[in-house]
Amino acid sequence: RHALGSIGKSRAKFISAEERTGVTFDDFAGQEYIKRELQEIVRILKNDEEFQDKGIYCPKGVLLHGPPGTGKTLLAKAIAGEAGLPFFAASGTDFVEMFSGVAASRVKDLFASARSFAPSIIFIDEIDAIGSKRGGPDIGGGGAEREQGLLQILTEMDGFKVSTAQVLVIGATNRLDIIDPALLRKGRFDKIIRVGLPLRDGRLAILKVHAMNKYFRSEEEKDTLLNEIAELTEDFTGAELQNILNEAGILTARKDLDYIGRDELLEALKRQKGTFETGQEDTTEIPEELRLRLAYREAAVAVIACYFPEPLRPFVETDISSICSQPNMSYSEVSGKVFSRKSDYINSIVRSCAPRVIEEEMFGIDNLCWMSANATSEASRLAEFLILQTGMTAFGKAYYRNKGDLVSNLATKLEALRDEYMRYGTEKCLSVLREYHSAVETITEILLEKGKIKAEEIWDIYKSAPRVAQPSVSP
Ligand code: ADP
Repeated sequence: RHALGSIGKSRAKFISAEERTGVTFDDFAGQEYIKRELQEIVRILKNDEEFQDKGIYCPKGVLLHGPPGTGKTLLAKAIAGEAGLPFFAASGTDFVEMFSGVAASRVKDLFASARSFAPSIIFIDEIDAIGSKRGGPDIGGGGAEREQGLLQILTEMDGFKVSTAQVLVIGATNRLDIIDPALLRKGRFDKIIRVGLPLRDGRLAILKVHAMNKYFRSEEEKDTLLNEIAELTEDFTGAELQNILNEAGILTARKDLDYIGRDELLEALKRQKGTFETGQEDTTEIPEELRLRLAYREAAVAVIACYFPEPLRPFVETDISSICSQPNMSYSEVSGKVFSRKSDYINSIVRSCAPRVIEEEMFGIDNLCWMSANATSEASRLAEFLILQTGMTAFGKAYYRNKGDLVSNLATKLEALRDEYMRYGTEKCLSVLREYHSAVETITEILLEKGKIKAEEIWDIYKSAPRVAQPSVSP
């Protein structure tokens, strides 16, 4: 795609200070504490000398991590926009080529350009593509090449003296767990910020940002509708919320309406969820095998929900009328704060394992389909959250104590502990589903016959089902 002469040049996109990135912190909504932290960095970056007199230096690297679509790129652009500095955007995948030596020279080139424009900002998206742990499995090949690139990043970051650390490197990844620990050491990416999924209020704030250029009948109606959508979008990312509003706008135009209404928003929400209704009570359009898998999945989720009634909201009903990669079980709202203990988090991990565990149990490991994908990633996300964010595990204690100065081989330790929680989650889940196998079968039959089942009926079946004793599973 490019002339040979430019193969070692970085493919970074350059945006000058004059053009700015056009993005400010106002564009990022929710998770205010992240903005506060980054605003502070911008202040130091802009008034370098003044801060240095006080002995305060700008961090060399900031690593933003969290699921895709949570606004990491947006934040990096906002930093550049607010600081009014030139911005070099690259992706970890840009550096990796099959020709040897290319990755390293591309890194070198990128840093050289950034330095010649200093003070400036380098943004490396998907930094895990080049900065993953050395000596790990070589997925996709090019391991040695990648390693050269990584070493070059380390050299470059160590290279600039603290007093002239005028190039701020911002990295983004959704796989903190595979990042080479060397990158996380002091003087490299010494600020690690998690950009997580927004909570209810955060979702509302994000929706408000993206509703700014949309038409609603009145401010009150807009408020009510956005509040409702914020309520219904647990586990949605900022990008998905933005999509809902865009999609609603498109539907509104298609229907030739002047304002976005409730129907358009709810339909857009359904599309975003990937739930396509197949008609009111009619479930015959879903292929037989898919119905069977859906029914088993919902039955397993229902049984596990009975087994661990805490801490989630009480469930209402479930059905097999829509195909979606997360369970269809619906929950009622509870008012007031729910406070979660460690055991609640662990129970949630077990719950989230249910779709995958039942699919493997009933259809075999070689015969899995996408149906449990979302739930499974939710389980490992929960495990990571418990370990990294709550301080409730032994690891968390170490992590918190050493926050400024990360524990060595953090990623390896995290991975091992997460695997341990996932092992417990799947084993415990399997044990409960085997113990209550007869309840699972009964609920499945009812779902296949009627298409849905209510909570009361699920509870009756669960309580009266014969149980098969299982060996105990220890955490
Ligand atoms: P990431 O880099 O984490 O994958 P992006 O920054 O590319 O995510 O997010 C994609 C888009 O989603 C953003 O450009 C923005 O429009 C929207 N978005 C995501 N998170 C937020 C947020 N917290 N506030 C406002 N918009 C957001």
